[in-house]
Amino acid sequence: MPDIATSPVEIEESVTDPVTDDGDHDRFAHYVRKADAARATVEGVPVRALCGKVWVPSRDPSRYPVCPECTKIRDRLMNRSSN
Ligand SMILES: [Zn+2]
Repeated sequence: MPDIATSPVEIEESVTDPVTDDGDHDRFAHYVRKADAARATVEGVPVRALCGKVWVPSRDPSRYPVCPECTKIRDRLMNRSSN
């Protein structure tokens, strides 16, 4: 796993709104790091979601359900920060 698991506070700050998987199937909105999402928008480079999926986001995420795996990981990280 990358450095997303280091600090719950850092997670909260670095996770942005979901972005969308542009695959042929299982379209979900995944949580990604804010810096990655910004760079993807500007440079068109792939991003890596919390669940580990790597792809180039290009669609409006509000039209898709949030990836259950990303949600699970994010919830776990958030919960840890409240303890
Ligand atoms: Zn995901």
